[in-house]
Amino acid sequence: MRRPTVVGNWKMNASLEDTAALVSGLTSGWTGVHQAEVAVCPPYVYLAKVAELLEESNIAFGAQDVSEHESGAYTGQISADMLLDLGCKYAIVGHSERREYQGESSELVAAKFEAAIKKGLVPILCVGETLEEREQERTFDVVGQQLRAVIDRVGLEGVAKGVIAYEPVWAIGTGRSATPEMAQEVHAYIREVMGPEGEHTAILYGGSVKPDSAAALFAQQDIDGALVGGASLKAEDFLAICRAAE
Ligand code: PEP
Repeated sequence: MRRPTVVGNWKMNASLEDTAALVSGLTSGWTGVHQAEVAVCPPYVYLAKVAELLEESNIAFGAQDVSEHESGAYTGQISADMLLDLGCKYAIVGHSERREYQGESSELVAAKFEAAIKKGLVPILCVGETLEEREQERTFDVVGQQLRAVIDRVGLEGVAKGVIAYEPVWAIGTGRSATPEMAQEVHAYIREVMGPEGEHTAILYGGSVKPDSAAALFAQQDIDGALVGGASLKAEDFLAICRAAE
């Protein structure tokens, strides 16, 4: 009922040349992926090139962020319409790196989520706790608050138009993934908060997913796929994770 989904977040990595080589590695190594939805999120400036290179493939693409505004005097921002113009299907919103380094609040993230669904762009909403919050046993509170900010703005049906990614901050880029059981516990909680809409909402896990850890994570009942950072920069590793999602 829910399609397994694997999304690569390339962050601010690679040159134009490296990007072309990475896409070529993905398209030439594309075997054994039949059911899974696969997408990559390159930096904004490479989206047009990636769109061109992925034209004949089954790989979708998206942006790493989107403006909460439709258009106007917002220097440096990129609107949902602009991303759709380039053929983007997805936009990540509320990644913990943006929450932390750009000071994005849950309310701003909710506004971005709404701006995306209004236009038919699929937002990938990132939620997750810091190590300190986990140690204080506040994981459900924090994840619940981040999620409820979006539910308050667009309703449960609105959230179900997007994808949710549970990304514990302490697991991102650290090589320290949550165990499948730890991740499952939070995924089940998110699905419960989503109510009946949760049945058809994809909930991805993100945080140091590697080819050798993917299958055990995907075997969990409420883990529908992954948002992958570091390992998405190596075509072979990313493809292995996609195959594990089948
Ligand atoms: C991410 O940044 O979304 C992420 C999951 O990164 P990594 O896989 O490198 O932990």
